[in-house]
Amino acid sequence: MRLCVLDGRSTLLTAEGEVDVETASGGRFSRDVARLYTEWTVFRLWADGFEDAPGDAQPELDRLGALSPSPSQVLAIGLNYVDHAAESGFAVPEVPIVFTKFPSSVAGPGEDVRLTGDEVDWEIEIVAVIGTGGRSIPAERAWEAIAGLTIGQDYSDRAVQFAGAPVQFSLGKSFAGFAPIGPVLVTPDALPDPAEVVLECAVAGEIMQRAPLADLILPIPALIEFLSDVVELRPGDLVFTGTPPGVGFGREPRRYLAAGETVRSSATGIGWMSQTFR
Ligand code: ZN
Repeated sequence: MRLCVLDGRSTLLTAEGEVDVETASGGRFSRDVARLYTEWTVFRLWADGFEDAPGDAQPELDRLGALSPSPSQVLAIGLNYVDHAAESGFAVPEVPIVFTKFPSSVAGPGEDVRLTGDEVDWEIEIVAVIGTGGRSIPAERAWEAIAGLTIGQDYSDRAVQFAGAPVQFSLGKSFAGFAPIGPVLVTPDALPDPAEVVLECAVAGEIMQRAPLADLILPIPALIEFLSDVVELRPGDLVFTGTPPGVGFGREPRRYLAAGETVRSSATGIGWMSQTFR
């Protein structure tokens, strides 16, 4: 299944074109995407009656909204790719590094973002959107708890992130628009193999990050098991799974975003999104 929020309404991208969920279900399922995650199992069964749109064509970015506009929690993983840990000057962690992006930072896939300072950085990530969720989810059952995957940017103001000692990750990653997600949610069955899902982030046309999802140190099912041992994962929650190497902070010399620059983020089988900094 390929699900998006088109002009504010839950919409399936099918072989026959765009299908408005509320209209096609005779009002059984909501136009409000957040409500779909609360009854994900029955919604999946209904939506499986439609054939997916081929390839990863997507509607115009300015018509697309956030796939979970007000999640109860946004969990994020630090240093989950070997070479990103190295470029950041950290050892590969023995346990996952977990922080939050506060939910008010979530945005749609094509919204402009306010440049908050001179050290704003990009971090393309794959984001898992929680469907049924729960607690103590074993890795073998993790995909049943996830609604699907999409692309996210874990924008980070490094000056705020690294102010003080010890450093605090969450605040510098939670400015308005610093957690854009999209363009579409793709269910696990409709995704290519992780080795074929290539993440790519370009800044002002220059490719900065490029890596397959298979390079994750801790794969998504293991992350869900680890997180849900502590936190109850709720419908619509977001899990940012970590960024591959190539962020501005890790470059020599360092390179940060400037006003007017556009960041384009894509992933094979999912689509692409872009934000311009103002
Ligand atoms: Zn990140």
